[in-house]
Amino acid sequence: MDFELTEEHRLLKETAYKFAVREFAPVAREYDREEKYPREILRKAAAAGLTGIVVPEEYGGPGAGFFELALITEQLSRVDLGMGLVVVGATFGAENILFFGTAEQKARYLPPLVEGRAVCAGAFTEPDAGTDITAARTRAVADGGDWVINGGKMFITNGTVCDFMVVLCLTDPDQDKAHQRFSLILVEADRPGVMRSRIHGKMGIRATDTAAITFEDVRVPRENLIGARGRGFYQLMHFFDCTRTMVAAQGVGLAQGALDKTIRYAKERLVFGRPLAENQGVQFQLAEMATRVELARNIAYKAAWLTDRGEVDPALAAMAKYYAGETAVWVADKAVQLHGGYGYIDEYDVQRFYRDAKILEIYEGAKEAEKLTIARRLL
Ligand SMILES: Cc1cc2nc3c(=O)[nH]c(=O)nc-3n(C[C@H](O)[C@H](O)[C@H](O)COP(=O)(O)OP(=O)(O)OC[C@H]3O[C@@H](n4cnc5c(N)ncnc54)[C@H](O)[C@@H]3O)c2cc1C
Repeated sequence: MDFELTEEHRLLKETAYKFAVREFAPVAREYDREEKYPREILRKAAAAGLTGIVVPEEYGGPGAGFFELALITEQLSRVDLGMGLVVVGATFGAENILFFGTAEQKARYLPPLVEGRAVCAGAFTEPDAGTDITAARTRAVADGGDWVINGGKMFITNGTVCDFMVVLCLTDPDQDKAHQRFSLILVEADRPGVMRSRIHGKMGIRATDTAAITFEDVRVPRENLIGARGRGFYQLMHFFDCTRTMVAAQGVGLAQGALDKTIRYAKERLVFGRPLAENQGVQFQLAEMATRVELARNIAYKAAWLTDRGEVDPALAAMAKYYAGETAVWVADKAVQLHGGYGYIDEYDVQRFYRDAKILEIYEGAKEAEKLTIARRLL
């Protein structure tokens, strides 16, 4: 067993962290307030080698693994979760093309993601189907050489800014087994009948784009099917088993960022004539925060490492995601508390971290769903 990062890993971490400090830190507060981000950030991230890193060389990427992606995700989230998601989430959903797509689909859709020229969205959740994704009703019907899609998706990251999306569709509603009724279909965002509206007023990750999408008689060619018909649910579960580890890395990064800021603040802030950090009660809290961050990091790294070895472990990925999400919420709460009144106003970043953290317990599987996955393994 070797816990040492390689020189390349250390360099990658440093590159990602410096990029985030340079590009996110000065603007994160403004983008959070105004619910926006400039698309240009993706070009810059691509130039720094931070986009599409799991894409193989033959499709323009560096062919790195999910472990390397976790390192990047962690470092970006340490500075700002929302902007970090803008960068690493620009490929969200496209992993399905990588895992299950044809050579033609990979050659067409993956290179622009690596170059920061395109954005993908993964459109799975519906207004009445989230945790129970088998309740999804967006219907794709084969008609001549096309699929005709009708229905609607909800809470889709990158929904109004994406160039294409991977959509979970009901293609075989008559199958006895609910899990065999779905397929994943690629839909270009400019197809007639695709209607997208941005959702405003999020609690956190406010710079990111989140949208409701409606499909009204949207026609896409039959070859836009990803993988085999009727396998969409199973493909999606494998995809989530890989990408949940990235949500865990987001949690680790956010929690580390909140801890860093709190340590700095506790050393500077004077209470009763001495630095806050000299109080043992404060030291206990910092120690607990650091311990939880380290635990979360270790599970997340292990889950990502197993994924790259081709030994994806759904229960471990679920543990990583739920524990890191809870850790981020818990650590951010402590960070605000230790900043006192200053922690409550947006001039201090911990306020944003506190709001941002909550999404980590909800998206890509609410933490209760993760615990069910773990319990299934145990029982
Ligand atoms: C900012 C944001 C970005 C998102 N991005 C995307 C995206 O890009 N693509 C996408 O497809 N979706 C996305 N989502 C949707 C997200 O994945 C869903 O919101 C999430 O899966 C929960 O589904 P739901 O909201 O329908 O909650 P529900 O399924 O209605 O569940 C509500 C709550 O009940 C609890 N719960 C549910 N089931 C159980 C159970 N069996 N036992 C115990 N408790 C349970 C959980 O606490 C859960 O939070 C995003 C959501 C947000 C808010």
